[in-house]
Parts: sequence; C-alpha cells; structure tokens
Amino acid sequence: MRPGKMIREVLQSIFRKPATILYPAAKLDMPDKFRGKLKYYANACIGCKLCMRDCPTGAITISKVGEKKYEAVINLARCIYCAQCVDSCPKKALEATKDVELAQLDEKKLTITFTVDDPEGKVTS
Ligand code: SF4
Ligand code: SF4
Repeated sequence: MRPGKMIREVLQSIFRKPATILYPAAKLDMPDKFRGKLKYYANACIGCKLCMRDCPTGAITISKVGEKKYEAVINLARCIYCAQCVDSCPKKALEATKDVELAQLDEKKLTITFTVDDPEGKVTS
C-alpha cells in the first residue's frame, strides 16, 4: 500500500466505530437462530432417543428415570452446537439457547444433567 493511501485509511479509521467490543464488559445480542447451550424440557420428552441417534458426536444421552419420566445428560465439551438434536426431536423437548458463555477450566463441569425440575441443567455430580 502506498504511504498516501495508508495515511488516508488511518485517518478514516479514527472516525469509524470500532469493529470489536470490550468483552466481557460489553456483550453482543446473539441472533434469534443462534445455536448455543441446549435446554431440555423433560415434561415434553417421550424417550424416543432420536436425538441420541442423530447426534454426530454422541454428546447427548437420554435415560428413563421413572414411568414416562426421562432425563438428559449432555456433554458440552463434545457438543458441536449443530442443533441436529433440536431438529430431530418430534416433541420440541430440546431448544438451542443463546448462551455462549460456557468456558470452563474443569472439564467435569461440562457434563450437565437436565431433569424434569431443571430444564437449564446442573453439573452432573
Ligand atoms: S447440538 Fe449437535 S452435537 Fe450437540 S447434542 Fe445436539 S446433535 Fe449433539
Ligand atoms: S428426540 Fe426429543 S422426545 Fe425423543 S428422546 Fe430426544 S429429547 Fe426426548
């Protein structure tokens, strides 16, 4: 790039809005169809396990825990956030949220159990 052209670029940049944000102080609104952390509605689940069959990484496990009662365990470290399970579920028991803040130093804390009382899920103990 010629020096004259470069100076013009630099001067224009001074008056432009920054292309980045000061994360984590500032946060972006994720678009509506964003595929972040999953939510599981145990009340809607019929235990068909289509989500498990179609998951490309084996990240989701559905277990029967009582008469017509199911729970889900999702390994967030294995999940690639493709939302195939959401598309495959015939009962809309799974939802992709806009939650992206999943970074974790302890890998064990990335295995989450979702129960009938807890669609957000808790770290599997
Ligand atoms: S979002 Fe994709 S990788 Fe994650 S559990 Fe669902 S199907 Fe598996
Ligand atoms: S596909 Fe939906 S209804 Fe079937 S086991 Fe998975 S979450 Fe439950």
